[in-house]
Amino acid sequence: MGTKRLQFSPGEVVFREGDPPTSAYLVEAGKVEILTQQDGIPLVLSILGPGDLLGEMAVIDDAPRTATARALTEVRLIEVDRAQINERIEASDPIVRALLKGQLNRYRTALNALRSGETPVIVSSSGEHSLDADGYDDKAVAKIHLETQLRDALTSRTLEVRFQPIYEIREQRISGYEALVRWTHPVRGAISPTEFIALAEETSLILPVGEYVLDRVAETLAKLSELGVDPLPFMAVNMSGRQLAEADMLSAVQSASARHGIDPRDIKIEVTESLMLDFERVGELISRCDALGIKVALDDFGTGYSNLGHLHKLQFSTVKIDQGFVRQMLEAPRCHAIVSAIVQMVHALDSDIVAEGVETDAQLQALGALNCRYAQGYLIGRPQTFDEMRSNHGLG
Ligand code: C2E
Ligand code: CA
Ligand code: CA
Repeated sequence: MGTKRLQFSPGEVVFREGDPPTSAYLVEAGKVEILTQQDGIPLVLSILGPGDLLGEMAVIDDAPRTATARALTEVRLIEVDRAQINERIEASDPIVRALLKGQLNRYRTALNALRSGETPVIVSSSGEHSLDADGYDDKAVAKIHLETQLRDALTSRTLEVRFQPIYEIREQRISGYEALVRWTHPVRGAISPTEFIALAEETSLILPVGEYVLDRVAETLAKLSELGVDPLPFMAVNMSGRQLAEADMLSAVQSASARHGIDPRDIKIEVTESLMLDFERVGELISRCDALGIKVALDDFGTGYSNLGHLHKLQFSTVKIDQGFVRQMLEAPRCHAIVSAIVQMVHALDSDIVAEGVETDAQLQALGALNCRYAQGYLIGRPQTFDEMRSNHGLG
């Protein structure tokens, strides 16, 4: 489709207040004035020139034109198709959409007040949000709210970290823990990390959350060491894709360790297997970690974007079999066969294996029989507080 250009002579109207929103325009040449009426007297709101966008407001919120546009000189406009604008808005971040609509609402409210000669009320007087049929503004606003509260939880240090024991089957002892972050929301109560980590991932908030968790983990190792726990258990920390992509996680591990005077080799990094797994970046992380003796585990293996290429190209020191397999391994012989094959394959690659989601004694026995080294799950222990963890080491 070619570009549609329109010409107007001085005094000609481009659109009138109350007209339906057909398209927006880009001023290519000339000047256009935007007018409304105050108590019947024309009032110029602005004068637009080359490069300015015109009439986009009514197109964005699909409402009648709120003002009249009139050519002041010879004017040449490029028509911007409605579908073109809407497509971009639809493709944008929901929060950006909400911000845009919020601004539009305020502008319209102020404009109405101006017309009637009242003092503009900047916030909608009803106090209610004007929502689209699909209600996405509402969700976006709720998200902004939640995100702000998460930020507050971070600054007030009310995010908590729990430690879930990882059991070494043959040695019959707890050799490590996985750090799992917890958020108790002031109104909603406990919110699953699956929800708020995903939220934090949408913004850079995941980075301070990750650093906070690392700091708590290093602090906990230091406290256990002070209490005389020897050997110290390892602590596994989850890292999501964005953390790997944007932060120098290894430096964060090193600085948290230095701050608390612990050996960074007591910290393990868990990377979730996902589509986003960037071979080059993870490969680089693994070799840098290797040089420092820090272990990297592949989390949730066998689900989602499971890819043997991950195992072939990346030398993870540990592979964690996803809970889904362990849950079904005793009822479904095919599932048992898969777990057995994964355990053998991972051993053949010289890596360690952790079976996740172990809930029954029978599952633990079956995993032991397959020579699986570590087990993690509610049978061994739920995610625990520091005090609960102490008692595992005879310090109760
Ligand atoms: P994940 O890394 O796969 O963590 C294991 C999840 O399974 C945890 O849920 C744990 O409480 C749960 N679980 C452990 N044993 C059992 C069991 O026997 N049965 C059942 N049904 N569940 C079990 P949680 O704590 O809700 O964490 C969910 C996910 O949130 C984690 O999955 C991880 O991907 C993410 N996450 C948690 N903490 C952090 C963090 O500090 N940073 C990042 N980036 N992600 C985190
Ligand atoms: Ca994990
Ligand atoms: Ca997992």
